[in-house]
Amino acid sequence: MDWDIVIGLEVHVQLNTETKAFCSCRVSYGDAPNTHVCPVCLAYPGALPVLNKAMVDSAVMLGLATRCRIRPYSTFARKNYFYPDLPKGYQISQYDDPICYEGHIDIAAGGKQKRIGLTRIHMEEDAGKSMHSEAGTRVDLNRCGTPLLEIVSEPDIASPEEAYQYLTTLKQIVRYTGISDCNMEEGSMRCDANISLKPEGQKAFGTRTELKNMNSFRNVERALKYEVSRQRKVLESGGNIIQQTLLWDERSGTTRSMRSKEESHDYRYFPEPDLSPVHIDKAWIEKISSTLPEMPEARKQRFMKDLRLSEEDASALTAEKETADYFEAVLKTFNAPRTVCNWVRNEILRIVSETGRSVRKVPVSAEALAELLVLLEKKEVTPQTAKLVLDEMASGGASAREIIEKKGLKPISDSGALESLIDRIFEANPELVRRFRDGETKLFGFFIGQVMRETKGQADPAATREIINQKLGK
Ligand SMILES: [Zn+2]
Repeated sequence: MDWDIVIGLEVHVQLNTETKAFCSCRVSYGDAPNTHVCPVCLAYPGALPVLNKAMVDSAVMLGLATRCRIRPYSTFARKNYFYPDLPKGYQISQYDDPICYEGHIDIAAGGKQKRIGLTRIHMEEDAGKSMHSEAGTRVDLNRCGTPLLEIVSEPDIASPEEAYQYLTTLKQIVRYTGISDCNMEEGSMRCDANISLKPEGQKAFGTRTELKNMNSFRNVERALKYEVSRQRKVLESGGNIIQQTLLWDERSGTTRSMRSKEESHDYRYFPEPDLSPVHIDKAWIEKISSTLPEMPEARKQRFMKDLRLSEEDASALTAEKETADYFEAVLKTFNAPRTVCNWVRNEILRIVSETGRSVRKVPVSAEALAELLVLLEKKEVTPQTAKLVLDEMASGGASAREIIEKKGLKPISDSGALESLIDRIFEANPELVRRFRDGETKLFGFFIGQVMRETKGQADPAATREIINQKLGK
């Protein structure tokens, strides 16, 4: 039998606000345990939460970026459960009336675009962290109260590959808005997945399981693939799927049962009495809307249409906002999109991957690259030397002009110097000169190569070509 796969994803994104959701403790990562805590996030009796407006701004921002509707009044609720890293015994979250709802994200699926609905985006606070070691289990409450957005998709995702695409696209959008760095390793982006199978074409959903503990997009995809085949085997042998929460074990590549799946009534949600409802008026939404950057898909389309870049180039340049910003900053001084695209893709992104830095932290600013490209266009440096100059700029921070001057990297176009060099090369290779004269024209490239080698790429290519042609009587 053929089966339809039904996947819904719940993604938590940790916001990069200065302070926590309901107190003025700093949001931090990697600091000494329990150094960013106060009576509110430690749940001392009588301490009262105060809403951080920056969290609401971020929620509206992401809601607008994902075409959600923004709810004018939304409230907070308590989600009750016990765990040692949750001192209050409940998490402040949203339940009935999340701040954003009915949005969507378009993803690439099988060469086409597919729209994945978003059920909701709501605000909540993070719990602390239990640290297990041989000495026992200890708790770090620095993370308690860190603002989160939970983004819940509709069950529109029809394969593990689509789940991967959805996560990649969502991460790209979130990073464009600047509200989170979405670093899965540091836990600032986390994903849980609901998955079920149903006979092909059947309307009613099958029983679903929930997958947790996946720390990369690839692992989400792998875990879903594993779960698809596990559920298929159970169903095809006449068994029933048990609704439960499963933990993905990366090392064995399998899942194991964590607990039977809880329902929302298990959490005994009730309205948070210590926080008033959030009222968002039109002016507030408009203000945030005016700061919303152009989204990756729109920017990609613009690069293709207005700058005549290929889809592949446009995708590569818009994958990260920083890269696209850098590219456009270079264009301000040196308006040749294809040339700049090649330099950014081949050279700047190479430096990024070699140094592990982000585009913003590469020591070659957009203005500095533009200066180099202007010099190249004016033939004040040869293409080969220009790449060496760029590497020099990346390691030292000096400008292109300074490096060219200081290291004597100007092109050699002095015909006297080039002529004597070419004579020497011919003298050293009489046999090849003879073969060239006998019609083996592909040896031309060999002679050019020799000149470039001798001059470390500084020979002016046009002048070199002309002199060789003259001397070989062509
Ligand atoms: Zn606090």
